[in-house]
Amino acid sequence: MGLLTTPRYQAAQSGTPGNPLFWDTVLDQSDLFAYNTVSCGKGGPFGAQLWLVHAAKDHYVLVGTAQEPEDSNAVVSKGRASAHAEAENLSPEKRAEVIRFLEGHRDEGWQMVQVSSGESCPSCRSKQVLLANELIGRGLLRENDFHVIFKATYAQTKRDAGFNDAPYDQAFRAIAELGVFDTDEGLLGLEAALMSNETAAAQIKSGELVYIAVDHANSSDLPEGVDSILRRAGSQPVAIIVRTDGSILSSAVDQRSLGGDAMNRPEKTALVGALYQAAANLREDEGKFESWDLEGARLFTNVRDIGPMAYSESLWYNLSGISVVDEYTDAAVDCVAQELPGTGNAELFKQVAADYDDPASPLKVIFHGDPEEASVAHLLWKAKMAMETLQNRQAERLSALEEGANLCIQYIDGTLASLARLVCSSRQSSHYDGKQAEPEA
Ligand SMILES: [Zn+2]
Repeated sequence: MGLLTTPRYQAAQSGTPGNPLFWDTVLDQSDLFAYNTVSCGKGGPFGAQLWLVHAAKDHYVLVGTAQEPEDSNAVVSKGRASAHAEAENLSPEKRAEVIRFLEGHRDEGWQMVQVSSGESCPSCRSKQVLLANELIGRGLLRENDFHVIFKATYAQTKRDAGFNDAPYDQAFRAIAELGVFDTDEGLLGLEAALMSNETAAAQIKSGELVYIAVDHANSSDLPEGVDSILRRAGSQPVAIIVRTDGSILSSAVDQRSLGGDAMNRPEKTALVGALYQAAANLREDEGKFESWDLEGARLFTNVRDIGPMAYSESLWYNLSGISVVDEYTDAAVDCVAQELPGTGNAELFKQVAADYDDPASPLKVIFHGDPEEASVAHLLWKAKMAMETLQNRQAERLSALEEGANLCIQYIDGTLASLARLVCSSRQSSHYDGKQAEPEA
């Protein structure tokens, strides 16, 4: 079992375009940027930058401004589980800027580089694959010219910051390894393929592999209201998210305009739209902080050929499953549901699942970090988490002491001291500069 038992980063051996010292510098800068965002209390400990590069001329163009050169994780501020630094960095505005730039510099040999302080999860990789295909398809980028350079591997990020994307990616490793898209069932056969493979089944049990089952549903046993939404959609792709109590949390149809020249907007596809909308509803209507936790809700759809962006997105939302309602599926629905118009979703899925050095992947992925050196943003995050745990423990002790004991605490000059004040004073007294006067001889 090659892919299931090998860390993905080992295949990230592509070479950097242009000056390696330049990439060393900007990659560490993305880590320092993430350190600063964490220290300001913003987002998770990750940063990303988008570059257009002309290697022969040593010319580097940052897709950004002097005020906002880089992007950070925005999961908490947006209430969206996939608002990772790379995804923020591939915003529609930045994608449009890239297209505009490359349209003005056709055939000059520009390359694209996304720099990320951490190894991209499958959801971000889907977005990279979609953009790479779009640029190549428009004749704006040559094949093999979309690079991703990252610093911390999944294992480092787990060890140093406690975030673990590997189990989600492991579902994609399994899809590639078990040839899930070599059969007609595709994703609908994923669960059976996983269960009949000893390694995969063991990894599911141990939590090393996280997936969401996609099954067939019958229109006669759908939750109330779902059938009529599906019927109304006709050959328009639609997704409906239903809570465990049977109520409909959100529904969305594909919102993309089908103009041939328009920039692709995969975030407006039905499944992704319904997931975003579900989280937004929970955040806005119920004030739920972890609004991406849909608490075992189920997604129903007429899309049979589910794409990699929708599937990887769904992995973050604590769904109990995805049900494809057979009566409403047809080739026209799957055609409109293509995450990249003109390319089947199964084909895209194979590209996202492919190993980094597999020719099937349109990305050139480079691990440019040091397995022995932690990201400074991760270390700060870990310290921050530990500090909060310690603060909470102190608060519990204080209230226990206040309730149970009758302590007399005072300063040496006889004035009474408050333990609560002492315990909470570390911020104020942390300006300690040493004793001001030398002790008298
Ligand atoms: Zn990601």
